[in-house]
Amino acid sequence: MNKQSISLINDAADIMDVEYPIMEHFYTIQGEGVHTGKASYFIRTGGCDVECWWCDVKDSWDESRHPAMKVGELVKYAKESGAPFAVITGGEPLLHNLDALTTALQKAGLKTHIETSGSSPFSGNFDWVTLSPKKFKPPVKEMYPLVNELKVVVLRKNDLKWAEQHAAKCPEHTKLLLQPEWDTPESVPLIVEYVKENPKWGISLQTHKYLRVP
Ligand code: SF4
Repeated sequence: MNKQSISLINDAADIMDVEYPIMEHFYTIQGEGVHTGKASYFIRTGGCDVECWWCDVKDSWDESRHPAMKVGELVKYAKESGAPFAVITGGEPLLHNLDALTTALQKAGLKTHIETSGSSPFSGNFDWVTLSPKKFKPPVKEMYPLVNELKVVVLRKNDLKWAEQHAAKCPEHTKLLLQPEWDTPESVPLIVEYVKENPKWGISLQTHKYLRVP
């Protein structure tokens, strides 16, 4: 399903037939952010127009490479896994209207989380919103009031100033996290010193890479 509005969809059967391009979906452990270490069902949509040069899921960018899956199938897999929540990620998941998928997941009893750059209009019903802004296509301003967790990937010192600019736009209760870019180890001491001096921030690590889980 693309950007067309589905706000008038009321019938549960119709919702189950809505399709999204899906790169992969799997039961795993959330590796990053506040919910690190928790069992979760990951749904990775195809398509991204942000094009970060350091992206570790470049295969996701071309939406046409990823087969369409119905909401009904995705919800069945997620429900059967026993996961307490589903993480909708990408690619950039907000390239798609997420109303149908998130409504169906919640009706099935799963909490819904999203990880997004925030660079496309918001859609869907979410219990947890993680904004990971990217310089290559910044978030839309409507995004900021919805953010539960701000997770900024840091490569160099000026990214810290940039992180503060986003934090200033988020609600006061937002959890603030800095995450070293995996292939930029010099970012680690930068972040450690910054968090010690600015304890409103914490550190997010890509623990799934250390644990070698997908
Ligand atoms: S927004 Fe995410 S998926 Fe898209 S290019 Fe950047 S890191 Fe990759």
